[in-house]
Amino acid sequence: MERLSLKIRGIVQGVGFRPFIHKLVGSYGLQGYIKNTSSGVELELEGERAELERFVRDVPEKAPKLAVIESVEPEYSEELVGFTGFEIRQSKREASRNTLISPDICICDDCLRELFTPTDRRYRYPFINCTNCGPRFTIIKDVPYDRIKTSMGAFPMCPDCDREYHDIEDRRYHAQPDCCPVCGPRVFFLDRDGREIPGDAIETARRAVKAGEIIAVKGLGGMHLACRADDAGITMELRRRKQRDEKPFAVMCRDAAAARRICELDADEERVLTGFRRPIVLLKKRGGAELGHVSENGYVGVMLPYTPLHYLLFGNDIDMLIMTSANLSDTPIMYKNNEALEKLRGIADGFLLHDRDIQTRCDDSLCWVLDGREYFARRSRGYVPFPVKLEDSRTRILACGAEQKASFCLSKEDYIFPSQHIGDLKNYETLENYEAQIAHFERLFDIAPRAVACDLHPDYMSTEYAERLAKRDGIPLIRVQHHHAHMAACMADNRLTGEAIGLVWDGTGYGTDGTSWGAECLAGGYSGFERLGSIRPIPLIGGDRAVKESFRVAYVLLSAAGCGADGIESADALRAQLEAGLNCPLSSGMGRLFDGIAAIIGIKERCSYEGQGAVLLEAAAECGIDARYTVTLEGEPLRFDWREMIREIVRDKSLGVPAGVVAAKFMNTLIDVGTAQCRYAREKTGLTHIVLSGGSFQNMYIMRRLPARLRGECFEVYHHSRVSANDEGLSLGQLMIAQYALENGQY
Ligand code: ZN
Ligand code: ZN
Ligand code: FE
Repeated sequence: MERLSLKIRGIVQGVGFRPFIHKLVGSYGLQGYIKNTSSGVELELEGERAELERFVRDVPEKAPKLAVIESVEPEYSEELVGFTGFEIRQSKREASRNTLISPDICICDDCLRELFTPTDRRYRYPFINCTNCGPRFTIIKDVPYDRIKTSMGAFPMCPDCDREYHDIEDRRYHAQPDCCPVCGPRVFFLDRDGREIPGDAIETARRAVKAGEIIAVKGLGGMHLACRADDAGITMELRRRKQRDEKPFAVMCRDAAAARRICELDADEERVLTGFRRPIVLLKKRGGAELGHVSENGYVGVMLPYTPLHYLLFGNDIDMLIMTSANLSDTPIMYKNNEALEKLRGIADGFLLHDRDIQTRCDDSLCWVLDGREYFARRSRGYVPFPVKLEDSRTRILACGAEQKASFCLSKEDYIFPSQHIGDLKNYETLENYEAQIAHFERLFDIAPRAVACDLHPDYMSTEYAERLAKRDGIPLIRVQHHHAHMAACMADNRLTGEAIGLVWDGTGYGTDGTSWGAECLAGGYSGFERLGSIRPIPLIGGDRAVKESFRVAYVLLSAAGCGADGIESADALRAQLEAGLNCPLSSGMGRLFDGIAAIIGIKERCSYEGQGAVLLEAAAECGIDARYTVTLEGEPLRFDWREMIREIVRDKSLGVPAGVVAAKFMNTLIDVGTAQCRYAREKTGLTHIVLSGGSFQNMYIMRRLPARLRGECFEVYHHSRVSANDEGLSLGQLMIAQYALENGQY
């Protein structure tokens, strides 16, 4: 007999870890106890050495799927205590400590089997769940996480469910949302006028969808609008009703095989697609797939069903459905029954709803799969509110994020909690939700920030909020430059400390000189930065109008390069405005360069959604093109002067070079620019680590080439994988920079 002291570090609290250990210990017949510690859990066990060693190997292999095990450190000794039995010890600190809150996770295989087993008491019950699956974050009102403090509080357990709940051998042991047809929520179907249709609600909804109707479906974090994805007519009708002309829709496929029929799906993508977090995965369309009505670019966002309700809706004969968030332009996703019935009148032909309230809105997450991991465009359902764990202790800080893709982060001890997708704060309802979510997170995780961080932009709604908060609570306000925050976010994402080169390309961010920055090469760390590279500024005729009306940017690029710009829409008026210098702020935004090129080569002259020019250029780009345009770099910061490139593009165009070749050559040129600027930064600073951040790095043509190119030049290259590269990831960087400033006595 020997004694084992086992320290397990990582995210192992609030994920069903102790019941798991209880069961595992039972199967081995070991004696001892487990308790929570500040960094994870600690076990003391006695038994045969060989058994103990096998147990240690088993823990990471069989751990609950939400657990993140960072290290398992066993220590053996021969001094026996003589434990009898096994117990879960409550630590004294635990009462004041918050356990983590689980994200919402998709229905597990066991529940799915029961759902379709006619003899099971939960046969076809759309709210089936267990310890390993089901709603969590979106139904929690308050902590501690008990049924009464969730939406399930309205549904007292029946004796059968209660028995399962108290049986440590049962899969539903301590599953707070456990329920059944006797005691749980019910689903119902309403017609377009809000009248309930008697009978089997799900079958009625299925029939409606199959017949080509658009129905609203209540999901985990909000409402979806669903219709047949194989029917271009009804999909275009949905676009018309939703006033969403061009932006791609997400598709829900019944399973991976159905997804493979329309998309290319490699092993990593399949793993993420079928994983329990169920994000929307951006997959390359299969050649010949007729999906132009779903997505105008080369990718289609695909997810698999994640609630029992979805599985029942698909049944045996539906392959794929459009599943788009039910919201009206820039407002948050709808999540209440009444709201949906009222605001979707005239949009939805029917409503598949239920009486379990959604407490917290949470949109579907959206990602590519890059180097085997999620590369987020939106980190939300399935991931939130799981923290980013970093080693050193953190001051309690609220970082307020950006504006258009708002998010926030709160820190406490070793954890940073990034919020879910919030949306555009210029919309009033979204701003209200943002403030409500900050309050909700502060309560859930018991965090009273002692400092607040925000963007340098004076007009962001998030800045305004931060200023108000700092004043109200008398706490320091730390303003962080936009691109510096992007860079720090990517450093934290990769757990880097010290200094690095930050290649940060995005649409726009407020610079330290008051102009709009965009394509920046920085060097520095959490402590500060210097700006070593950028691009030649572009005057935006009409300011923000140039973002949507990208022909305005095309005009500027062409005229600056000395090329004829007369073919551009309203060229005369633009010339007059540019010459008068009226409302023509300068921008070094990479996004504008993409939009401008897309307009010049006739791919897109007006953008109906953010980043559309870049997305379409990427979609158009031909593979296997190695050619590029001339890179001219000059000055300090080292700026890319794009004028020669524009002249060459115009020449190509006049020679009849296809747009797809020009698009590829353009992006190859940008890869050259980034590489040259990083080389320059290395010469100046000696730094060799590069972090890539900013919304323009959501371009997979570039992301599948630039890192390899830089590695070829002996750089260490890092990209995001835990938060988004776009502005949604910004708050993480703000927080790290603010923490550094506080710890170094700057506030
Ligand atoms: Zn389950
Ligand atoms: Zn029950
Ligand atoms: Fe940005």
